[in-house]
Amino acid sequence: MLRTHTCGELRKKHIGKHVTLCGWIDTRRDHGNLIFLDVRDRWGKTQLVFDSEVSRQLHRDAEKLRPEFVIRVGGVVGKRPAGTANPKLNTGEIEVRVNEMEVLNASETPPFEILDESNVSEEIRLKYRYLDLRRPSMLRRLEIRSQVVQVAREYFKEHDFIEVETPILTKSTPEGARDFLVPSRLSQGTFYALPQSPQLFKQMLMVSGVDRYFQLARCFRDEDLRADRQPEHTQIDVEMSFVTEDDVISVIEGLLVRVVKAVCGVSLKPPLQRLSYLDAVDRYGTDAPDIRFGLELVDVTSILERCELKIFRDVIASKGMIKGINVRGRDFSRQELDGLIVKAKELGAQGLAWLKVTTRGFESPIAKFLAESEQDELRRAFCSEAGDTIFLLGGEWRTASTVLGALRSHLAKDLKLVKTKDPALLWVVNFPLFEFSEAEKRLESLHHPFTAPQDADVGLLDKEPLRVRARAYDIILNGTEIGGGSIRIHREEVQKKVFGVLGISDQEAEEKFGFLLEALRYGAPPHGGIALGLDRLCANLLGVDTIRDVIAFPKTQKGTCLMTEAPSKVYPEQLKELFLQVKT
Ligand code: ASP
Repeated sequence: MLRTHTCGELRKKHIGKHVTLCGWIDTRRDHGNLIFLDVRDRWGKTQLVFDSEVSRQLHRDAEKLRPEFVIRVGGVVGKRPAGTANPKLNTGEIEVRVNEMEVLNASETPPFEILDESNVSEEIRLKYRYLDLRRPSMLRRLEIRSQVVQVAREYFKEHDFIEVETPILTKSTPEGARDFLVPSRLSQGTFYALPQSPQLFKQMLMVSGVDRYFQLARCFRDEDLRADRQPEHTQIDVEMSFVTEDDVISVIEGLLVRVVKAVCGVSLKPPLQRLSYLDAVDRYGTDAPDIRFGLELVDVTSILERCELKIFRDVIASKGMIKGINVRGRDFSRQELDGLIVKAKELGAQGLAWLKVTTRGFESPIAKFLAESEQDELRRAFCSEAGDTIFLLGGEWRTASTVLGALRSHLAKDLKLVKTKDPALLWVVNFPLFEFSEAEKRLESLHHPFTAPQDADVGLLDKEPLRVRARAYDIILNGTEIGGGSIRIHREEVQKKVFGVLGISDQEAEEKFGFLLEALRYGAPPHGGIALGLDRLCANLLGVDTIRDVIAFPKTQKGTCLMTEAPSKVYPEQLKELFLQVKT
């Protein structure tokens, strides 16, 4: 080994020892005869002292050291002089008095300082990702991500799961996104698809009798990268045989207990809360609610049915509803209120009414249209007190709920309503199996086409497919969906029926999923599973804003890698071998 200790290791007990350290030059302070340099590695920083009285030559050499030079130093561990200890540093009580040094490599002046607080654009960070990752906070994130992976591996091993790798070069699997295609050289004109998930392979493994499978699976989706997405992400992918929803849920809860303990030091107490899809949308306006703060949506339709306000009455008459939220103890300025109205309209509402609750009743442009009794009932419905502000809007159930839900999230962020640091997890269950896609003008699977319908609803598949509930479940962390899964269809006739509802003809089903339908004929066991998004899980537990911060080499919003400059052009010969031509 080039070193005896790491830069984060030396303590008072090492005083007097001769040690050798390796690392990068961090900060430096010159005090005439003494040069103080911090040397840094993954584990921390250690103060080095170069004393001209010990060695002129070494002192001179130290003057030439620049930030990010890589050095190896030998010296004796000493106690820092009284009053100069640095309690913020693990190694803050000692220093190494250097008596030998070797420069292992020089460094150009880096484009930014290797500091946690350095204020540098993400573009530069991604181009020089190796320097960005050298920052202590970034190395810490990689470390925590690795810890999550290790906890998961240990956990699944204890629970008798087998880790199986499924192919990267495969056939298109429908998770609803566009495939990345890879042309085949050996069979002209054909393409592999990169897997959007190992969904069908893990189901095949259940037919094989693997019974309990997991994998840290890379998944590829060629989506527009709005929101916080990446073209490739990692899933903790799980599938189990002879299980119900509760079995999968409880295995995952056990895993999350360990992960949350390891990363946040918080002890979760399963079972976690469960909310039906309808309740989630109704109470929070989203199927991925953040339950760390209240501000729940309240349905006040029945109170306002006969009110004097025509806009409200019209909404109700056309089967819509009036819903609201009450912001406790918060007065809003006129400007703030106008801003919120604009926001609500942007989100798709026709308008937004506000009512300030005062000791003299409501203060609001619409107060005069509300009878005394209606005002009383509203106050009661929202449990409001003087100083609160109520917001109301009307519309069809889903629109009214989701717009108000988005407003709820916006207000929570603005008003900093999340007070706890503890992660809030919950399951959303009882999803519909299908939803109507306005864009495609047909039914689509809410999860994927292999999700089983609830037994009680199978009879509705033909007549009222939109009322069929799925045996699916999503796990939500702090208002973000971090995973989802389902019990699968394991009977061919049900699978064919679901394909039929989705408008997939027998011929298309055979072409795309023939191998699945065939496998179902050979004794497929009942099975189900889930996938957790590793990137999102880590980002959320660490409280970072983007999943790019927990991925070593992420892509930009345009799907490019600024470091390697991928994607890039290829040589004409390469294209020829693949029977491809690029038209520009
Ligand atoms: N394959 C699904 C996904 O990638 C997860 C699952 O159903 O297990 O989202």
